Amino acid sequence: MIEEVVLATRNEGKVREFAQLLTGVFGRVISLNEIDGAPAVVEEGNTFRENALKKARAISSYTGKAALADDSGLEVDSLGGGPGVYSARYSGENATDKSNYEKLLTELGGATDRTARFVCCLALVETDGRETVVTGTCEGIITLAPGGEGGFGYDPIFYVPKFGKTMAQLSPSVKNNISHRAEAARELRRLLGAVSR
Ligand code: IMP
Repeated sequence: MIEEVVLATRNEGKVREFAQLLTGVFGRVISLNEIDGAPAVVEEGNTFRENALKKARAISSYTGKAALADDSGLEVDSLGGGPGVYSARYSGENATDKSNYEKLLTELGGATDRTARFVCCLALVETDGRETVVTGTCEGIITLAPGGEGGFGYDPIFYVPKFGKTMAQLSPSVKNNISHRAEAARELRRLLGAVSR
């Protein structure tokens, strides 16, 4: 087990979710809120992997501890994988969740190919410099109109065929079990468990 890991986020919701998903992998999960003067890392990479690795490397080198960073977003096939790494700021600097998904619905119009996936990349940098990167996905279809009140981001327009509901209509426990974050965490758990250390 890795004794301690710094999660490269100030979002306590994310910290709780990952701490739960990675129980047994790390002795203690701490967030950037507990680290004084941690550097802000600009997410300007072209891939989720680049962004996650950049954050994990920066936080591990600043703290001298193992660091875990995530980057995630939505890939829509008919938009060539967009908005991708631009998911959070798709509709501009002052983007909101609603302005982002409204822009996406407008871009897609009546397109019949509406397949998409949420992607989460997790990068772990350990104190000996070892780097592990995993990716989790959750497949779905972009709806014609928003539905549901739960979740955040693009959840209201992301339909999950297996459940016949949008992400925003699923209970948090179901979403947290099938999400791209959960898939990535499961893969990390599998890899770390398999690696002899
Ligand atoms: P972050 O990398 O987790 O900060 O996510 C970047 C952006 O991707 C968010 O601002 C959302 O727009 C989108 N996103 C990531 N995960 C989800 C999700 O589970 N549901 C809906 N949107 C998401």
